[in-house]
Amino acid sequence: MNKKEQTSISKSIREIPDFPKKGILFRDITPLLSDGKKFRACVKHFKKLSKSRIDYVISIESRGFIFGSALACELGVGFVPIRKAGKLPHKTFQASYELEYGSAVMEVHADGFTRGSRVVIVDDVLATGGTARAAVELVRKLDAKIAGIYFLIELTALKGREKLKDLPVHALVSY
Ligand code: AMP
Repeated sequence: MNKKEQTSISKSIREIPDFPKKGILFRDITPLLSDGKKFRACVKHFKKLSKSRIDYVISIESRGFIFGSALACELGVGFVPIRKAGKLPHKTFQASYELEYGSAVMEVHADGFTRGSRVVIVDDVLATGGTARAAVELVRKLDAKIAGIYFLIELTALKGREKLKDLPVHALVSY
């Protein structure tokens, strides 16, 4: 994607101060999603990054599902959800991660994909990196080889990449 397209995508992500709580500058992607051309350009961009063999797209509840499922369809590969604890009905693997206050648990189905698969992980925002780190731990429990970790947005000041060292991280826009 060229710089002009990137800038145009960046401009269609709205900033909402103090949401969902005071002090958070929330990046609202709904204006981007409602623009069909821009939404498609983002998915095509992720597709271009996926040059090597990919067996599954794994994404993180809930906004990660929007881009992850579209990418899986484009690539013609399976989609596997990572969900907050208690949502998946079958046997799961779990990983905990830090929140601003306390911690939370994410899960993937233990038979969610074939062991040893090549996967990409997709989410909307890389902030502190805790969520993505937990997703990495989960897919490793299924012996996955991580071919890429794609984000629409990276909030660079929060240094999330430091939690994803030595992994192939890509972000479409950075703030
Ligand atoms: P983190 O674990 O800190 O990297 O947070 C990443 C997750 O929290 C992503 O799944 C995002 O959906 C969400 N998130 C964190 N910060 C923001 C933000 N400023 N705006 C929108 N979503 C955010």
